[in-house]
Amino acid sequence: MTNLRIPGPTPCPDVILKEMSRQMINHRGPEFAQVLNNVTSGLKKVFQTNNDVVTLTSSGTGGLEAAVVNMLSPGDKVLAVSIGVFGDRFAKIAKTYGAEVIPLSFEWGKAADPDAVRKALQDNPAVKAVLVTHNETSTGVTNDVEAISKVIKEFDKLILVDAVSSMSSIDFPVDKWGCDVVVSGSQKGWMVPPGLAMLSVSTKAWKANTEAKMPRFYFDIAKAKSDLEKGQTPWTPAISVVFAMEKALNIMLEEGIQNIFARHIRIADMTRKGVKELGLPLFADEKYASNTVTSIAAPEGLDVKLLTKTLREQHDIVLGGGQLQLAGKIFRIGHLGYVTEDDIKEVLNKLKVVLPQAGFEVKR
Ligand SMILES: *Cc1c(COP(=O)(O)O)cnc(C)c1O
Repeated sequence: MTNLRIPGPTPCPDVILKEMSRQMINHRGPEFAQVLNNVTSGLKKVFQTNNDVVTLTSSGTGGLEAAVVNMLSPGDKVLAVSIGVFGDRFAKIAKTYGAEVIPLSFEWGKAADPDAVRKALQDNPAVKAVLVTHNETSTGVTNDVEAISKVIKEFDKLILVDAVSSMSSIDFPVDKWGCDVVVSGSQKGWMVPPGLAMLSVSTKAWKANTEAKMPRFYFDIAKAKSDLEKGQTPWTPAISVVFAMEKALNIMLEEGIQNIFARHIRIADMTRKGVKELGLPLFADEKYASNTVTSIAAPEGLDVKLLTKTLREQHDIVLGGGQLQLAGKIFRIGHLGYVTEDDIKEVLNKLKVVLPQAGFEVKR
């Protein structure tokens, strides 16, 4: 089996994939309502929240778009904290819908500085909401959302969080940290195929929703919430992916979310240690290095394209390259969701073989 080690889509256990082959049911009938209710209550446990959680048929980006269009009005000032590709994307969505975006960007590979967020909010008192990425998949950095959220609370602003590649894998207690809208996506740490975006929505966010005037139709979460009360979704959902999610949540809650977080820490530590032992430098500031994806800075002489191609063609291991300006400069190992120590051991062993073939002499 291919060792798919990209930060999403991630491999899925066979028992979860099997759910996808179930016969279709009426999405307005009692059987689907039961499934959707189970999914919603399971999601709340993983999000560690009593807020509403709505499930949309969409990729993660649609979830981010839903967060923007349901909370804001054209002309609203938004502080967009960005540490990479996905932070920039969140900002771009807000801009597309007419928000006045104030960018607060940090060097790629570094985490956002909560004090800089405070300064930006002092300088821009009219800001309505702050956009933050929890885990920046493009650079392999996890922001300290707890500290950033605390700062945002000092100013009583909305905090909208992209947790697409962290929720379910890295501890993110939504209520404890007081985050208003938090978005995730099924194909990252959830062991489920692509197709669902899940969002938690706080009471404060629902209040903002009643005032938000950005245009929305498919992603109208007020409609999603009222339909959810009947065990339904506004539009035909990806029923097969919802079946898979129900099964995945059962498996996850059986393992226990704290055990899942601990497994991700253990495997990420092992990945970073193994990579450094090969003589490779980490790209991310190690203090904030992600526990779902490890980014490695390509040293002088290493041909990243050749490395990933050789691993794929000769060893059936698929790693991620760098996105946008990081193409050719870094490569990434995904270790989220359905992942064990053995999966990473295999990657490290084969890296040892292939690195010299791609221009880098492994440290002895
Ligand atoms: C994958 C990802 C997204 C986008 O998800 P799509 O499902 O590709 O739309 C957004 N943010 C982060 C941090 C991601 O890792």
